[in-house]
Amino acid sequence: MTPSDYPASWYAATRDAGAGPDTGYAPLAARAEADVAVVGGGFAGLHTARLLARQGRRVVLVERRRVGWGASGRNGGFVGPGFAERSGALIDRLGPDHARRLYAQSLRGVALVRAAIDELGRPDIFMGAGKLSVSRTDQGADFADRTRRLAEQLGAGFEPWDRARVRALLATPRYHQAIHDPLSFHIHPLNLALALAADIERLGGAIHEGTEAVDLAPASGGWRLGTPGGEIAARHVVLAGNADLGPVHRRAARAVLPVATYVAVTGKIGPQLAEAIRWPGAISDTRRAGDYYRVVDGDRLLWGGRITTDTREPARLREIMRGDILAVYPQLGELRIDYAWPGIMGYAPHKMPQVGEIEPGLWLCSAFGGHGVAQTAAGADAVAAGILGDDSRWRLFAPFGTDWAGGPFGRAATQFVYWSLQARDWWDETRQAKNAETLRT
Ligand SMILES: Cc1cc2nc3c(=O)[nH]c(=O)nc-3n(C[C@H](O)[C@H](O)[C@H](O)COP(=O)(O)OP(=O)(O)OC[C@H]3O[C@@H](n4cnc5c(N)ncnc54)[C@H](O)[C@@H]3O)c2cc1C
Repeated sequence: MTPSDYPASWYAATRDAGAGPDTGYAPLAARAEADVAVVGGGFAGLHTARLLARQGRRVVLVERRRVGWGASGRNGGFVGPGFAERSGALIDRLGPDHARRLYAQSLRGVALVRAAIDELGRPDIFMGAGKLSVSRTDQGADFADRTRRLAEQLGAGFEPWDRARVRALLATPRYHQAIHDPLSFHIHPLNLALALAADIERLGGAIHEGTEAVDLAPASGGWRLGTPGGEIAARHVVLAGNADLGPVHRRAARAVLPVATYVAVTGKIGPQLAEAIRWPGAISDTRRAGDYYRVVDGDRLLWGGRITTDTREPARLREIMRGDILAVYPQLGELRIDYAWPGIMGYAPHKMPQVGEIEPGLWLCSAFGGHGVAQTAAGADAVAAGILGDDSRWRLFAPFGTDWAGGPFGRAATQFVYWSLQARDWWDETRQAKNAETLRT
């Protein structure tokens, strides 16, 4: 394997080539023994392996391609609490107490990522503090009260911002109110993945890239995990393969639906960018397939957006992303897109992660959807605690189950739901814009 095996992205272009061996971690080519075998070298697998290695457990992690090759090495880099499912829906479904404890677990994930960056001695991975969730429709007079009530229910630190405050920082008429979360921050995700992997080795764990887990069977004292060139005998196995687990565990693989989303990074924009965006934190809008973006490298814009169950890369991805940026900030007219890449998120039908013990010694840590940079750490913390004997954290996720995501039928149904939700977002925005126009004339 060579470093160029990473998909071309701004992250790959700015990755820390010094973290880990030059040519990657060698594939597994023999029989190994471990306390815990981990499948998947994304954040879910890496955090799990590192947390357990820090507790003296022998861990072996196998990754089909390269560490951080999947969603973890190509996402927006936003680190924040909550889950892919809306907090309000979780309160309705589980009651305020359970929802609050889940939110607290997600906050634990945020804190774990922050602590890992410090422990790894890598302040460069941290790229900016704070996050704004901006609304593209007017949220009405009770927005501030509703937001404060929700924050109180969840034990959260976010707060409402009014339109004037938002527009003083973001020069676009598209946005109305925002929720400001001072606890969120943004990072270089690929460099975090590489640094976590290097730390696992430093702690005595083993990492094997180019190694797909292809079969799994109960064995005396635990499990036997098969790969094309070797096998691992382990007391525990953690499946952290996101949307592409493959044949190693078909039921778990079928329970996660792959959904594509895209990220682009512009060329250097110059002072024009600071006139349009005067906020150093992360920004996302609250539509279903909304935009999420941040300023990187001084004057480049890293912009993510769109969701589709069609996982093929669109032919004119750069043009599409450029159009999305200009729809919000037309004043950036001349901008060039230097990088654009797709990534796959894994969703369970209930939009919550699948975290827990599904058979004695067999653990799932997967399906974090589009909200996974901190949540993978939260899930890993829950699974690691379970393996070490404390079941209380992963049981928070137990109500969500590991059901079949519907295969191609699930994809079609999900795409249909996305289209109808996007149409609803479009309709709300258009109607408000028309009303505003009528009032002006
Ligand atoms: C474009 C994009 C933007 C996003 N932006 C954000 C964001 O800004 N903030 C946020 O919180 N979340 C974001 N997300 C979501 C977040 O990135 C994911 O939820 C998270 O990274 C998932 O981590 P993971 O470890 O579960 O999966 P992955 O990172 O996909 O890792 C799974 C790994 O397992 C390996 N694997 C699978 N099966 C096997 C097998 N059988 N044997 C060996 N290896 C195997 C794969 O090769 C892969 O490397 C984004 C996602 C995408 C795609």
